[in-house]
Amino acid sequence: MIVKGVVFYLDSELPSEARSLLEDFRLAVNNAIRAGLQARITSRNALIKIAYKDFREQHPRMYAQHLVSAFEVAGSVLKNHRRRVRKGVTCKIPYVKRLMMKAENQAYKLDRKSGIIDLPIRAGCHVELRLVVSQYHRKYLDDMTLSLGSLTVLPNRVVVAFRKDAPKPFVPESALSLDTNERSLDGVFIGGDVAMAIKAEFPDIATIQQRHHDRRKRLQKKKAHDRRTSRNLCRNEGSREHHRIDYRLHQVANSVLKFAEERRSAIVLEDLKGFKPKMNKELNRRLSMWPRRKLHRIIEYKAQWKGIPVVKVDPRNSSRTCPICRRIKYSRMGAEFKCECGWCLDRHINASINLLQTAISKGMAGGLWFNPGAFQHDAMMTLYALSRGARSEPNGTSGIAGVT
Ligand SMILES: [Zn+2]
Repeated sequence: MIVKGVVFYLDSELPSEARSLLEDFRLAVNNAIRAGLQARITSRNALIKIAYKDFREQHPRMYAQHLVSAFEVAGSVLKNHRRRVRKGVTCKIPYVKRLMMKAENQAYKLDRKSGIIDLPIRAGCHVELRLVVSQYHRKYLDDMTLSLGSLTVLPNRVVVAFRKDAPKPFVPESALSLDTNERSLDGVFIGGDVAMAIKAEFPDIATIQQRHHDRRKRLQKKKAHDRRTSRNLCRNEGSREHHRIDYRLHQVANSVLKFAEERRSAIVLEDLKGFKPKMNKELNRRLSMWPRRKLHRIIEYKAQWKGIPVVKVDPRNSSRTCPICRRIKYSRMGAEFKCECGWCLDRHINASINLLQTAISKGMAGGLWFNPGAFQHDAMMTLYALSRGARSEPNGTSGIAGVT
């Protein structure tokens, strides 16, 4: 079963009954967290066993199912906390600060035609939440193969989980291998008698990160005397940065998946698990900030949703190996990979040829075959480029210019 959370904004403000439900829910979660920490347990059922009776007395009016899901939320907070403690990360006692509640699928009703949620507050008291439904939302609401999962209610929006059985990945007729770099995905595509180099560029992600990083540093310096303000400002900075970057990552992932779906390709990616930091501190900061794992995660879950096979291969030496004679080059190289045997190609594309060869030699990309020499011509296809994909961002001036 795979799940996708879809965000819906509310048509109007949250009714006051629902708001106080969120407050009660948060209180219940935090109480359950405290009880769980005391008793050293994290599972929902164990929490219910030790604390349900007290809770029923403390929150006599809350709908029983909401109370149960409060234990569930508390359980997952506790599990995360335990994981961090085990890793040796110092952390404070966890609590939920954000106003929120979660309802399991039996505990709410969504009319998929009208987009109205019927949320029970307590016996005999329900509220209606009207959702803003766009074309994007219709895709999920109208698809009756998707069943409804849990509902998360936040002060201005809700997240509805849609579920379906994971489709069986198709048998690939072609393959697309991608080498993930700081400013682009570079790869090669093979299928039938077509062989071409592929590029998806996102130079602005690194730029945005650098800019936000500089800005945060400046803020910290300026507000060095006031840590609370400094922290708040930095947090706002961070969430804006996340929004801007996530938006671009999704665009890049969508373009890759569209390409793979149309050509029934397997997607070959590097397995980033064993990624080792280099000796250069500044480069490490840049590399660790650059959300390559996140991009892979997005590509993987979107592919799983659509039934596109994804293959992950060990990237060791992929950027240093010659695909023709298998020599490994240890010296520094420029933008081009040059081998003594005469092979010469863009270094990123060379890396993705090696990834593809690894995948094929292990039988992970179906019975495909290719000749690396085919990529030595200049043909290149751009999947995603800034000018085409990204919308210009509202910067506070463009809208005003339109009005005056
Ligand atoms: Zn060679």
